[in-house]
Amino acid sequence: MCEYNPFAAAQAQVDRAAGLLNLDPAMQEFLRWPTRELQVRLPVQMDDGSVQVFPGFRVQHNNARGPNKGGIRYHPAETIDTVRALAMWMTWKCAVVDIPLGGAKGGVICNPKAMSSGELERLSRAYIREIAPIIGPARDVPAPDMYTNPQIMAWMMDEYCKLLGRSDFGVITGKPLAVGGSWGRDDATAWGSWCTVREAAHELDIDLGKATIAVQGCGNAGSYAAILGQQLFGCKVIAVSDTSGGIINETGLDAAAVVQHKAQTGSVVEFPDADSITNGELLELDVDILWPAALENVITADNAARIKAKIVAEAANGPTAPEADPILYEHGIHVIPDFLCNAGGVTVSYFEMVQNASCDQWSEQHVHERLDQKMTVAYHCVLETARRQQVDMRTAAYLVAVQRVAEAVRLRGWL
Ligand code: GLU
Repeated sequence: MCEYNPFAAAQAQVDRAAGLLNLDPAMQEFLRWPTRELQVRLPVQMDDGSVQVFPGFRVQHNNARGPNKGGIRYHPAETIDTVRALAMWMTWKCAVVDIPLGGAKGGVICNPKAMSSGELERLSRAYIREIAPIIGPARDVPAPDMYTNPQIMAWMMDEYCKLLGRSDFGVITGKPLAVGGSWGRDDATAWGSWCTVREAAHELDIDLGKATIAVQGCGNAGSYAAILGQQLFGCKVIAVSDTSGGIINETGLDAAAVVQHKAQTGSVVEFPDADSITNGELLELDVDILWPAALENVITADNAARIKAKIVAEAANGPTAPEADPILYEHGIHVIPDFLCNAGGVTVSYFEMVQNASCDQWSEQHVHERLDQKMTVAYHCVLETARRQQVDMRTAAYLVAVQRVAEAVRLRGWL
């Protein structure tokens, strides 16, 4: 079996949309590649006095609709192709929720779990110094992603402002509240996902108060997805997992307690009153809503036929391989595709940029109302396209997003 390449998968998805939209070949070729890629080497002094050199990337896919936007991942298995795919998905994500931003992504090859806070701070500041020439509120605005967090964003924002010699808080989003962050940014991805799931449940006649959910991944998106599902809608969370394994209790887990257990012990496994389950088994549970909220490529041609959930809410980026999509569609599974389902994070990042630019701070309620409105409109636009064109939800999301980006490229006279 050839190795999964997320960028090849992302390009295959664009090609399919370009075909259905009858895009001309030059436009298709333009959209299937990033417009700019920067590779950096970051020498960082470690606590033991040694120096380690970390490779990093910043990839800008397309800025036809506005400044590039996208998170930064710290991961030992990061590759340029993963960052390219994620940058491209950011372009579609911003377009599908109709916010005036383009797509980008950054990554550093490192193992943040094995680094001290001081080492992470020096790495984060070094990264910003290297990518400073291509970022800025009107150029490209980084944010948190896998294994990066608000504290890291604060260091990055600070380093950029020091280089500039003035405050320019809008250069980074996902900052802590005390330094220009927005209310509602921490749980924005999960909150936005739930807006789309609520709409889908309504369409499919699923009573969320009686619904069961399983969540793969217990990072920012997964942990809040579980907690909000229980708190806002009264769903029964029956299984949760992380990189070390999973737990299941058919009578329902206390999601907040599970997340707290993970914070204390480093993992959800060994949570009291639950049996263990593997990540693979969790995906195949007979639940109403399945949340893949961890890595790419977990629902594949191999296991797609065994997925039993009614709704798959893709809180992760790229959890479903292209070959799995037709199988899920044939089985009548309602997939809320990643760049629609998890667009809440970047939507509140956009709100943070607006607040920073206008020296304002919105209330949490205002953020939630505006987020809900963006997500609900986007979900129904994609659903309506899927029904009209008789295609699956992912293809429909691509049709909406690629069309919007192509229109901006044309209007700006690039092609
Ligand atoms: N990393 C998040 C994502 O993949 C948020 C990006 C942002 O806020 O710019 O959507």
